[in-house]
Amino acid sequence: MFPANFGYAAPRSIDEALQLLKQHGEDAKLLAGGHSLLPAMKLRLASPRTLIDLGTVPGLSGVRLENNNLVIGALTVHADVGSSDLVRKHFPGLVDAASVIGDVQVRNCGTIGGSVAHADPAADFPVILTALNASFVLQSTGSKRTVAADEFFTDYFTTAMEAGEILTEILLSLPPADSGTAYQKLAHPASGYVVVSAGALITRQQSGSCASARIAIGGLGSGPIRAVASETELQGKALNQQNIAAAAAKAAEGADPDDDIYATAEYKRHMATVLARRAIEAAVQRAVN
Ligand SMILES: Cc1cc2nc3c(=O)[nH]c(=O)nc-3n(C[C@H](O)[C@H](O)[C@H](O)COP(=O)(O)OP(=O)(O)OC[C@H]3O[C@@H](n4cnc5c(N)ncnc54)[C@H](O)[C@@H]3O)c2cc1C
Repeated sequence: MFPANFGYAAPRSIDEALQLLKQHGEDAKLLAGGHSLLPAMKLRLASPRTLIDLGTVPGLSGVRLENNNLVIGALTVHADVGSSDLVRKHFPGLVDAASVIGDVQVRNCGTIGGSVAHADPAADFPVILTALNASFVLQSTGSKRTVAADEFFTDYFTTAMEAGEILTEILLSLPPADSGTAYQKLAHPASGYVVVSAGALITRQQSGSCASARIAIGGLGSGPIRAVASETELQGKALNQQNIAAAAAKAAEGADPDDDIYATAEYKRHMATVLARRAIEAAVQRAVN
């Protein structure tokens, strides 16, 4: 299938990209890795008149430490997120997620910013980034703002980003010592996308009990949801198998998933508890080591 005709712009700076976005308004789309946008254009689900290629803008990719944050450029491809020593050291749960996205081609072309901006309810990064309490830097002409993951994913394929904004960076505040992160996924066997997934960030006290927990679940709604009941259940408790299982059993509380052709709502809810338990166990293991 072929997309409708479109124009192509190759800006050389973020300012030029922002100007082009302003100039073309709703007729334009930003192009990152193209692995969600181009299939949508071929299916005529999107027909932008102009593509503004972020790939020609220098400085939008790479991973660095700045103050107490890990900063990931929006144009960093999944494979580079997954192979970054800094990501592996501070957020191995993000490596878990990066390495199970699609196939090799998708991981070499798709970008973390594209995945976040696209906000597919079956995507991996939004879930782990919600668990990790990430925030997203949005630049527009003359201003910049930062939105936390909890406020960013607002609906199916919808985010808090406004017209004229470009996502430039993902910020991850370094967790305290004795923290661990992990991500677990039940992948659709044909597409590889998420059926259900779980991400966890667990911090231990010196006594071995849970100082704090952030747990996010994917596949149960329009975007990542926080498993607040699980987080509350775990808080202050010894991080043993029994307490982890009791907390994970609450992972789907408050969620209202739909049946679809692959999985019933009941199966999804069950898998959320299984994957939450595995993600918490793996995060605790990493916090210990
Ligand atoms: C066969 C296949 C399998 C896949 N499997 C998985 C999977 O298992 N898990 C998963 O999570 N994903 C999967 N994906 C999706 C993949 O991860 C995409 O790469 C990703 O969703 C979009 O990233 P992109 O860089 O390709 O963005 P693009 O397709 O270029 O853009 C997507 C959307 O985001 C906007 N956008 C992009 N970058 C920015 C930015 N910096 N600021 C503002 N707006 C922006 C674009 O305008 C567009 O609307 C799969 C894709 C394919 C083709």
